[in-house]
Amino acid sequence: MEPTNLFHFTFPELEAWVTARGHAPFRARQLWRWLWHRGELDLAAMTDLAKDFRAELAELAPLRLPTIAHIHWSQDGTVKFLLHLADGAQVETVLIPDEERFTQCLSSQVGCPMGCTFCATGAMGLWRNMTGGEIAAQVLVARRWAATHLPERPITNLVFMGMGEPMLNWPQVHRALSILTHPDGLNFSRRRITISTCGIPGTLEHLAAADLALPALSLHAPTQELRALLMPKAARWELSALMEALRRYPLRPRERFTIEYLLLGGVNDSPAHARDLVRLLSHLKCKVNLITYNPVPGAAYASPRPEDVLAFEDLLRRKGFTVTLRKSKGQDIAAACGQLAIGEPCHGQA
Ligand code: SF4
Repeated sequence: MEPTNLFHFTFPELEAWVTARGHAPFRARQLWRWLWHRGELDLAAMTDLAKDFRAELAELAPLRLPTIAHIHWSQDGTVKFLLHLADGAQVETVLIPDEERFTQCLSSQVGCPMGCTFCATGAMGLWRNMTGGEIAAQVLVARRWAATHLPERPITNLVFMGMGEPMLNWPQVHRALSILTHPDGLNFSRRRITISTCGIPGTLEHLAAADLALPALSLHAPTQELRALLMPKAARWELSALMEALRRYPLRPRERFTIEYLLLGGVNDSPAHARDLVRLLSHLKCKVNLITYNPVPGAAYASPRPEDVLAFEDLLRRKGFTVTLRKSKGQDIAAACGQLAIGEPCHGQA
């Protein structure tokens, strides 16, 4: 029989698995806490579980997390992990330092089918969807590492901005969210999880109904024509329809969308583009997160000039928008936005 990976279960699934073997439901809660609260992989350490239960677990369900194949530590404190999944597929996840804490950038697919022209992950194509357990396990792996190396710096925020388009893998992303937010486990609040999507028709409704994370839109162009050039697949959803869907999104009072806008030198960073962006977003409750492009080898784009970035930001602010300019972090280790990609094919490797 194929061993069961307990890290792939949501809490109700773990409870069903435990009770189906004749154990009391509270055993599932104890086990869940060991797995997702303490990140424990050693069954012998789970001393409040009965010995025969632990023996059964050892036989049926060896505890395995993705393994760390490489760690790159940037001079600015960013840490990028290359993880091996059980079938040899590889993904990357990044810890981004922010004052005394980390934000973790999570992957949701091995590769990505969207093919955005500025994105290294998009150039890989899609290899496969990640499972909910694999997605959530990225946090446990990073947390276990950080507990040893940087115990004073907790992981407090999660962003789905790594490899993949999360809303194309929604069923598994939803499972991951239910694991990440479970109060007896990692216990992230929905305010601390952001799902960044380039906008897939019919999926914002799923995100709103689940109510387990905040939405962000990877916009990157203020007009349909330019978006079609930069993000040809995402642009199949007309910008006007996308904006209408965002306006219908049931945000709570005082909540706003985050609009991600990657500034590409000489492409989308002029004052005219900024004015188009102001017009496009004028009826939306949102804040704008500007990101400066990091060139990847062979890319057709360049970084924006600092003076153009400042002028763009200034114009938005003068029109009343809240703007954050994301400082590029981890650029020296290819961990910045649009740089996550695995250099070699991953399937079939041990
Ligand atoms: Fe996929 Fe996001 Fe890259 Fe576009 S930017 S190809 S959606 S990972």
